[in-house]
Amino acid sequence: MPSGGLEYRSRQMALLARLAHERRTDDRIGDLIAEAEAEQRSEDSPEAAQVREIRRDYEMATRLPAELVEEFAKLSSVSQHVWAEARQKSDFAAFRPHLEQLVELSCRKADCLGIPEGGERWDALADTYEPGMRASEVAAVFSPLRDRLSDLIKALGDAPTRPSNAFNEATIDIDAQAAFVREIAGAFGFDFDRGRLDRSVHPFCGGSHCNDVRLTTRFQPTEFNDALGSTMHETGHGLYEQGLPFDMVGLPLGEAISLGIHESQSRMWENQVGRSESFWRWCAPLAQQAIGAPLAELSFEDFYGGANIVRPGFIRVEADEATYNLHIMIRFELERAIIGGDLAVADIPGEWNRMYKDYLGLDVPEDRVGCLQDVHWSMGAMGYFPTYTLGNLYCAQFFDTACEQMPGLTDGFARGEFAPLLTWLRENIHGHGRRYTAGELCERVTGRPLSAEPLIDYLEGKLRPLYGI
Ligand SMILES: [Zn+2]
Repeated sequence: MPSGGLEYRSRQMALLARLAHERRTDDRIGDLIAEAEAEQRSEDSPEAAQVREIRRDYEMATRLPAELVEEFAKLSSVSQHVWAEARQKSDFAAFRPHLEQLVELSCRKADCLGIPEGGERWDALADTYEPGMRASEVAAVFSPLRDRLSDLIKALGDAPTRPSNAFNEATIDIDAQAAFVREIAGAFGFDFDRGRLDRSVHPFCGGSHCNDVRLTTRFQPTEFNDALGSTMHETGHGLYEQGLPFDMVGLPLGEAISLGIHESQSRMWENQVGRSESFWRWCAPLAQQAIGAPLAELSFEDFYGGANIVRPGFIRVEADEATYNLHIMIRFELERAIIGGDLAVADIPGEWNRMYKDYLGLDVPEDRVGCLQDVHWSMGAMGYFPTYTLGNLYCAQFFDTACEQMPGLTDGFARGEFAPLLTWLRENIHGHGRRYTAGELCERVTGRPLSAEPLIDYLEGKLRPLYGI
């Protein structure tokens, strides 16, 4: 959209938000839910879960006044645009008044939604992305992870050997890259009769239901593993969407549970599968065959090592699998403090830079690559960031269980056999829709509550040998 279209577009968005909100909160829906609740059914039946989740959506929507929904939509639409310009110019002062208003509106939103007993304002906002998740619970899994992760990253930084970067430096024709990543998405089980894969500036997974799932990815002449990794990531999201039951479209049991569970699916295919040794035993010769000369001289170690380089950097979306979680923890701590009233918006850049030094050992040179890098806060999405690391945590715990239940699972990757994993995910996770909450699903599938250990054990187990420590 040309920038001149912004103002009227933001009014259109505000109107649509209000109209949708009016329908969602119609009294007649409340009556129908009450009627459904009055019917007898066993508490753990799918129907009971359906009614429970429809009730939850209705309650959340009715707690927000229409004016607030409209005001929020309008402000976030304008703010995203202001943020994009401010980021380009590395000008935090230009974005600051908008962010201050967004924080104020977010606090009003949290108060309308209702702060859970014993909880805090941030919890009410996070609940819209990760139902039931509390800041205190997030902190309880993040802090042990942070301690061991910081030690690991430091040890990798001081390691005597580093994987070769030759794979990432190879220059490869973009059409050849596109054809290859498509093959991989298909090999993982993405159904191209019920989905597409296209190109965009930022990779994403969209679409409207399980039989129309649209993925995008992006390419550069070098950094082929970036294109491959983002394709595998979005394919993981897409496989979850395609695995939701079609006869439940439009109902909670046809929807994903939470952003954290969604992310657990994308990360599993991107990391646990796509950065594993056995995957590369299968993929490296295939890539050499498909791409030809630019990859012909590379060894297996160049591929596998190149896919697993750990290097602290400023930009979250370019971060490797290990340092990524520290980027998230910084954002979580900052937004918790902002929403809790312990940190002023004006002080964000200073705090941000202090934490990057402390957590990642980096001196942030300008806000463009610092606190202005992400779109989330400009959309008013507070409480969103932790879902990325929660996704990594759920993922590692689910994957451990899958490996326990299916001995030889990862050996199959070396033969291009991915169907057993997909079938397991379909049965244990995808097919349930929102029948269970994220916490319930985790306990049901893995037999224990979410913990930091599977993720950190997985990272240490893979990365220490690669770096010779
Ligand atoms: Zn994702």
